[in-house]
Amino acid sequence: MRKATPGQMKRYPELQRFDSPEDAGQVLYAWQRRQMKTLGFWVGLFGFTAGVGISTAVILIAVQPWIHLPGSMFAGVVSGVTAGAGVPGLAWFWRHRLRRFLRLQLVKRGIPICLKCGYDLRGQTEPRCPECGTPFDAKLIHPTEPETV
Ligand SMILES: [Zn+2]
Repeated sequence: MRKATPGQMKRYPELQRFDSPEDAGQVLYAWQRRQMKTLGFWVGLFGFTAGVGISTAVILIAVQPWIHLPGSMFAGVVSGVTAGAGVPGLAWFWRHRLRRFLRLQLVKRGIPICLKCGYDLRGQTEPRCPECGTPFDAKLIHPTEPETV
């Protein structure tokens, strides 16, 4: 059984809304497995690597005439800086996508949560998030009402 760690629970508050840390862990695991199968993940990873390489080359060509450092050393410094700037961006993007996935899973289980900002929608009377204004499916807050097709 995979349990969500307290650290993960803290980083992703959505995890606390699941029935148990085991339940949250299963969802996290499903997410990770899904990432490996998603083309976008590999394209993103490849794109990131290529992006670092291309930025390095461009900066290298543009700046090198003014900087008197051996080429290889300079390339190392520039790629380090580019990757250093890219990783937080990538981490943010990753976190953003995971949180959205977690919210979707919660909504699927009938737990009302705003898909955009994660606001707890229990007790709302209007099908609109009071925090960010995003409209949501009214069925979420009235789960007992019969569905109209
Ligand atoms: Zn919201």
